[in-house]
Amino acid sequence: MAKLMTAGPTQVRENVRMARSLMFTNPDVDPQFAEDYKVICDKLEKIMNCSGRAYIMDGEGILGLEAACASLTEPGDRVLVLDNGIFGRGFDGFISMYGGEPVLFTKDYTEPFTAEELRAYLEKDHDFKYATLVHCDTPSGMLNPIDELCPILAEYGILTVVDSVAAMFGEPVDFDGSQIDILCGGSQKALSAPPGLTMVWVSDKAMAAMEGRNTPIASFYANILTFKTYYEDKWFPYTMPISDIMGLAVAVDNYLAEEDPIGRHARIANACRTAVTEAGLHVYVKKSANTVTVFEVPEGVTDTQILDIMKNEFGIMITGSFDVLAGKVLRIGHMGENANEADMIETLNALQGALTKLGVPVECDMVEVFKRELA
Ligand SMILES: *Cc1c(COP(=O)(O)O)cnc(C)c1O
Repeated sequence: MAKLMTAGPTQVRENVRMARSLMFTNPDVDPQFAEDYKVICDKLEKIMNCSGRAYIMDGEGILGLEAACASLTEPGDRVLVLDNGIFGRGFDGFISMYGGEPVLFTKDYTEPFTAEELRAYLEKDHDFKYATLVHCDTPSGMLNPIDELCPILAEYGILTVVDSVAAMFGEPVDFDGSQIDILCGGSQKALSAPPGLTMVWVSDKAMAAMEGRNTPIASFYANILTFKTYYEDKWFPYTMPISDIMGLAVAVDNYLAEEDPIGRHARIANACRTAVTEAGLHVYVKKSANTVTVFEVPEGVTDTQILDIMKNEFGIMITGSFDVLAGKVLRIGHMGENANEADMIETLNALQGALTKLGVPVECDMVEVFKRELA
């Protein structure tokens, strides 16, 4: 099997895989499960500096996005969708599905939103129940400054839903400091657990908005409110995927045991971006998240040609992209366990080998540049 250097799922450390194979109790009837679940949620709250509540739900990252929209949206609600990427735009579907009216604020997919332009927009129109933002829009690598944008929305009394699935644990997130109301994460990105779990962090304000609805939440599985009293009641809305959660617990501890995981992501990302840039490749966005490097497919070759050689001859799996970016860019996922020097060297060596074999000029030794940058 090729080594995963994709932007999720990422590589999973052995202790996480082992934890998932252990014997387990019945999470429906054993009150110990609620205790163990709470210990993980408490750690997640601390990591994101969240004075609200964190919950783990059974479903990959997309569930968190849908759950946020399902739990907040009432028929007729206007919702501002910050759209400068494929995941950014994708929120509009969830909002309309639950009866809301998405209002797209669209900009160039290569540029992050700035505080100034958001302020200018809101001065003209700010009648929104909540807004959706993506921290790292993974298909392009776009990094939006959620720490600047969310407080502006909060000034106008607009709740904020932040998709940080592909950024958190690799980019800093300050839930309280940024005044985020619902933060969404997934198990399979920089936290490096296998796919299957969503994590949501919920502010008191968001909780109050859910409780103060005039209409019931039009979902059971995606209803965040059903988790609110799990600890007091020792009750969950459905049988919790206990093995997945036991793995996640170890992944969280792996994260906490490292002195500076955010710094590691920054160093690896900078070195990788410098290497591909000096090679003559073009990084797609002006401000990239430190979890992924996205660069344009060079002229004269296709993404699949490069991907096939990297996978079949070098045993390295990176990916192309999808939707409007299909065929246009390639993505190296250096998030979580992937973001280490040895695997990055193998990846850049494979990329260099594939490009050379296809006759694409490469203007430097990418591995050498990468090493130089890290030194
Ligand atoms: C991966 C990802 C998700 C979750 O998608 P899955 O299909 O559950 O993996 C959501 N948002 C972003 C930005 C992501 O990168």
